[in-house]
Amino acid sequence: MMMRLIIVSQNLLLTEMTYVNLQLNPERYTGYNGTSARRIWDAVYSENCPKYPAEELCQEEKILYKLISGLHSSISVHIASDYLIDEATNLWGHNLEIMYYRVLQYPNRVENLYFTFLFVLRAVTKAAEYLEQAEYDTGNPTEDLKTQSLMKQLLYDPKLQAACPLPFDEAKLWKGRRGPELKQKIQAQFKNISAVMDCVGCEKCRLWGKLQVSGLGTALKILFSVNDEENLVQIVSTLPRL
Ligand SMILES: Cc1cc2nc3c(=O)[nH]c(=O)nc-3n(C[C@H](O)[C@H](O)[C@H](O)COP(=O)(O)OP(=O)(O)OC[C@H]3O[C@@H](n4cnc5c(N)ncnc54)[C@H](O)[C@@H]3O)c2cc1C
Repeated sequence: MMMRLIIVSQNLLLTEMTYVNLQLNPERYTGYNGTSARRIWDAVYSENCPKYPAEELCQEEKILYKLISGLHSSISVHIASDYLIDEATNLWGHNLEIMYYRVLQYPNRVENLYFTFLFVLRAVTKAAEYLEQAEYDTGNPTEDLKTQSLMKQLLYDPKLQAACPLPFDEAKLWKGRRGPELKQKIQAQFKNISAVMDCVGCEKCRLWGKLQVSGLGTALKILFSVNDEENLVQIVSTLPRL
């Protein structure tokens, strides 16, 4: 799908916006690592779970943990699948070692990736009526029509509907005494995680990180049953990246 324009940074004081062609700036290896990247991930996980890294102590807030871990797996998979193999010759390709050591050897990380995908897919199908009728403005009328048609194919794909009629049952999440409290808590934590994304010290990583966190935030909003029709661009951009 053509996803041509996206706002990377919005400086509210100066009302500056930057437009980036996502197809020309794919999510891939950037060389961003070390303490800076590690601090961001630690901050994100600690926000969700103050007792991090003792994962097992935070069972009740598992949804947010799973979403973030799923996103983390997705980023690692994109790094591994589009990696700078040889800097001297600018050779790019798959890095199966990274794929295995960062994701595949941990069944939970793979599971969380599937969980996150189904979570976003459910939100997209729940917003089907809106997404079907939305205006897609890529700046090219032929691409607009193609995008709308691809969107319909995704929303009403018979194979998908047969295989996965209800990708994720959000009703189960929010029932129980702690449901409303949990919703509020997750919303507040998610805001903080979005703010942490501003500190990512690599522009391309920040672009994709913010876009996908916004997508997850929009999915959460939709599945919190609010009839919210804003920010659906992020959610549509997030789904194919997972
Ligand atoms: C928002 C964001 C976006 C980024 N985007 C890019 C990018 O586009 N390209 C790029 O090259 N780099 C990107 N990075 C950096 C990348 O994610 C890694 O931090 C970096 O490659 C170093 O990897 P690492 O092996 O040290 O482990 P990291 O991936 O940094 O992981 C840190 C620790 O988190 C835990 N962990 C790892 N994966 C999971 C998981 N799925 N679930 C739960 N816990 C986990 C492990 O304990 C691990 O040691 C990004 C970082 C951030 C914070």
